[in-house]
Amino acid sequence: MVRLGKLMSSLCKGFKPPEKLTVSEWADKYRKLSPESSAETGTWRTTRTPYLKEPMDAFNDPKVDHIVMVASSQVGKSECINNMIGYAIDQDPSSILFIQPTTVDAKEYSRLRIAPMIRDCPVLRKKVAAPKSRDSGNTILQKAFPGGIITMCGSTEAHALASKPVRYLFGDERDRWAVSAGREGDPWTLATARQITYYNKKAVEVSTPTIKGDSPIASAYMNGTQEKYCVACPHCGEYNDIQFDNIRFEKEESSVENEKVYKVSNIIYVCPRCGGVSTEQEIKHSRAKWIAANPGAYQHGTRSFWLTSWVSPWATWESAIVEYLQAIGNSQKMQVVYNTRFGLLFENRGDLEDEDSVMARREEYNAELPDGVLLLTMGVDTQDDRMEYEVVGHGHFGETWGIKKGVIMGRPDTDEVWQALDDIAEHIYRFENGIGLRISLTFIDEGGHFTQEVRQRCAERRSKKFFAIKGRGGDGIPYTGPPKKQKIVIRGKAVGMCQVFEIGVDAGKAMIMDNIRVQTPGSKYCHFPKRDDYGAAYFKGLLSEHLVYKTDKKGQPRKNPWQWEKIPGHERNEPLDCRNYALAAAKAMEPDYDALERRLKGTSRQERTPVATAVRQPREARPRRRNSDYDEW
Ligand SMILES: [Zn+2]
Repeated sequence: MVRLGKLMSSLCKGFKPPEKLTVSEWADKYRKLSPESSAETGTWRTTRTPYLKEPMDAFNDPKVDHIVMVASSQVGKSECINNMIGYAIDQDPSSILFIQPTTVDAKEYSRLRIAPMIRDCPVLRKKVAAPKSRDSGNTILQKAFPGGIITMCGSTEAHALASKPVRYLFGDERDRWAVSAGREGDPWTLATARQITYYNKKAVEVSTPTIKGDSPIASAYMNGTQEKYCVACPHCGEYNDIQFDNIRFEKEESSVENEKVYKVSNIIYVCPRCGGVSTEQEIKHSRAKWIAANPGAYQHGTRSFWLTSWVSPWATWESAIVEYLQAIGNSQKMQVVYNTRFGLLFENRGDLEDEDSVMARREEYNAELPDGVLLLTMGVDTQDDRMEYEVVGHGHFGETWGIKKGVIMGRPDTDEVWQALDDIAEHIYRFENGIGLRISLTFIDEGGHFTQEVRQRCAERRSKKFFAIKGRGGDGIPYTGPPKKQKIVIRGKAVGMCQVFEIGVDAGKAMIMDNIRVQTPGSKYCHFPKRDDYGAAYFKGLLSEHLVYKTDKKGQPRKNPWQWEKIPGHERNEPLDCRNYALAAAKAMEPDYDALERRLKGTSRQERTPVATAVRQPREARPRRRNSDYDEW
């Protein structure tokens, strides 16, 4: 790792005409902050956000033609762009193209940030005519100045991107850009193609990061110098970038009108090298510098910077931690916290956990059924050559236990396969004290090539509480609703009717991923046994999908922008489906867990006919909301 700043400023000396300022010097001299867009108004001071000095001054480095900045919010990244634009207009004018995700974003940025900057900055106001003055050539999206013009547009406007050459290119919120500008392809590639005639071109791309594996700004960062803003530990002097993992705090939790409220105190930073403890103020006032992990990229002209809000003078650690605590259990809120507060890519797999760390918390069960289990359900996934199942135990407040996971090989229209499934379903699962439970409800996927066979076999097994289910993806579909009557058609002939539950599988996946994120046994926690059926393949399959934010060709969010997709390398997702169906079965029953617990505790230890308990229980655990559909149970 090399400190690039010194090296580069010495390299630059020979190139800079003496009368020219750097971007940071220009901003200190001329830039005034506008009340519309800044928390602070008045003269710009680079010393207030010292971490922006080097990214801004990279704009003056003739060896650098590409600047990448990954940043959380509240670090001043928009002001950093504005300073470069103001500098270009005043000091080194040429054509500027400034691209936002959409045209609406471009208009808003122009109105709220560019126009006030020009108005409040006398050197710019003299050069850029107000849009309302006649023949100024200026509109919201286009402003002329001596020696150049700035054009602002959305990433979808292929026409604007493919026309005249530009020397300066700015791309804001890159991770929210359209994947393609109309049919013309990647908008960033289209825009940079317009710069090739300029030997002294500059391309600047900036964004808050989004989802791991699907973040253009993160890819651009990797191709650059990969610089992180590192702070010297006040104890040992080692430079490290501040990460949430090294911040400790105490919290008090209370409930106000059913909303959890957190009070955070004793926030400290623990140095990963020496373990020394520092306060937020000590860290924010300590020596700091950019350190490059890939300094060789400077030779290719790309400097990339990654900035988190932990060093921002405006964002307090307390507010970030409180937002984090409030987002626990809600993956969409958690992504916002990761992206905008921590400045980190989000991976929707239980707080960036991978399958190995979930597998590592497997535990020894003292019996087939650990204490705490009150109800058993089974989820079955149907494939052309096999059926996969999982038996899941349920306790109070959504706590679950993996009880048994298995595969029955064979076509799902054969007696052998269903007999094997009957054996699993009829087995009595026992606690350490000998008391046993049976599976109360089994949900079997009717998707695939054996829909009618699954319906028929389930209809034959109604006394065993087998039900066919149909999974549906998409937002807003409830996890479970009442079952619907469906025909069973075998070889073209209607042979009967059966009840089919429709399952909102996306609601289930979100719940499973949220529950896996919970780290301490109790409410929502997922227990897994230390056994071969819960091995590496199981966890790879359970954590096989993540939420991806989808936009249409115009870069607008789709109607349901959040979609579940398989993570590359995780093609087998049956364990996730089985778990999903088993949880849906428990949800469909909505049992009174207090009653189930009373009944289990009331069963005498001497009673050696526990089967009776188990058989009685699911009948009494029927949903209280009855209708004609349920009456057939
Ligand atoms: Zn230290």
